[in-house]
Amino acid sequence: MMRVVGTFLVATLMTAGLVAAGAGVARADSVKPSCSDRNGILGVSRVVEIDTAGGRRFGNMQYKDIDFLKPGEIVLTFDDGPLRGKSTAVLNALEAHCTKATFFMVGRMALVDPAMVREIDRRGHTVGTHSWSHKMQGSLSQASGEQEIELGVSAVSLALGKPVAPFFRFPYLSDPARMQAHLNDRDHGIFSIDVDSLDFRTRSGSTMMNRVLSGLKQQGKGIILMHDIQRSTAAGIADLLDALAREGYKVVHLVSKRPAKTLKAYDDMAEKEADRRKKYADNRPLADRSIVWPVSSASDLPAVVPLTIEPRGLFKGPLPERSGLIRTSGENLQQSVSDPDDRRADASERPQATTRPATLKGPVDEDWRKEVFKN
Ligand SMILES: [Zn+2]
Repeated sequence: MMRVVGTFLVATLMTAGLVAAGAGVARADSVKPSCSDRNGILGVSRVVEIDTAGGRRFGNMQYKDIDFLKPGEIVLTFDDGPLRGKSTAVLNALEAHCTKATFFMVGRMALVDPAMVREIDRRGHTVGTHSWSHKMQGSLSQASGEQEIELGVSAVSLALGKPVAPFFRFPYLSDPARMQAHLNDRDHGIFSIDVDSLDFRTRSGSTMMNRVLSGLKQQGKGIILMHDIQRSTAAGIADLLDALAREGYKVVHLVSKRPAKTLKAYDDMAEKEADRRKKYADNRPLADRSIVWPVSSASDLPAVVPLTIEPRGLFKGPLPERSGLIRTSGENLQQSVSDPDDRRADASERPQATTRPATLKGPVDEDWRKEVFKN
C-alpha cells in the first residue's frame, strides 16, 4: 500500500486550518487523511474471493483441508454480534487501521439492531452467520439444527437488507457431521479458527491481546477468533491492531463469490420475528440508530482476487489425491476442479465431526445475552 507522507502533512495542515477557522465548520476527524496516507497501519494486503459452492472448510484448529494463508497472514473474525456498544469500538479500531474483517452474526442479535448490521456492511466488512440463537449443534436434532442454521441466515439477511455471505461458523465450534453435510448441500463455507483470543474468559483487553499475539507467534499466521460482544475485545482491539501492524502481520480480507441463498420458510419466520421485535421496540424509546460514521473508500483496498483455494499443501505438505475447487488468479498454481456432487458421492469423504479443543469447553461468560434479550 502506498503511503505518501507529503499528502499526509497537507491533510494534517488542512485539518488544523479548518479547526482554527471556526468550530462547527468541520470536525478534525472529518478530514482525516485517507488510508493511503497513513503510516503504521495494518490496511489490507489481499482481498480474496471464496467460492463456497459444494461447501468448503477453513481453520486448522478443526479442519486440515485448506491452508490458504501465507506465513504472517491473518484473517480477523468477530462472532456473536452485533452488540452496538462493543461492536462500535471494534469498528472504530478497524477503521483506524483501514482494515477489514468478517463478522459471523447471530440472527437474533441482528434483528435486535439491523442498523448496526448494515453499518458493518457499509464499512466494507464481510457479514457471515453464526446461527439463529447460538445453540450447541451437537445437542440438537436434525430439524432443530437446520432451523438454527437457516433461520440465522434468513434473519441476518433480513436485517442486512440483502443476502449475506454464505460463510458459517458453528457456535462453540460444535460441528456434527450431519450439519456439515447440510452446509455443504447449501453451498456454505464452514469457518473454524486457528488462533483463539479466549476473549470470553477475561475482561482485560491486554490479556485478550496477549493471547492473540502468543497464539500467532506459535502458528505464524491464521484465522483469529474474537467476539464483538465481549468487553475484553472492545477494550483491547485498538492496541491489538497496533501490535499486529508493528509486528508486520498482513491482513487478508475474505469476500464471497456468491451470496447466500435463503429458504422461503425461514424468511417468513425471520419476518415474523422481526415484526415482533419491531412492536417491542416501538413501545420503547431507543437511542438514535441513524448515526453514520466515516468510512474508508473502496479505492483504499487492493483489488478483489478470487481465492486460489488449494487443498492443504499449497504452502506446506503434499497435495491430497483429490482436490477441491480451485481457481487461480495471477499466481502460478496447480489447478484442479472437481464436481462437488461427485465429491459428496464418495461416502469416505463425508465430513466428520471434529473434537473441539479443550479451551472451548467449560463455562462461557454469556451475561451479555441477558442484557440483549430482556423481553
Ligand atoms: Zn459464538
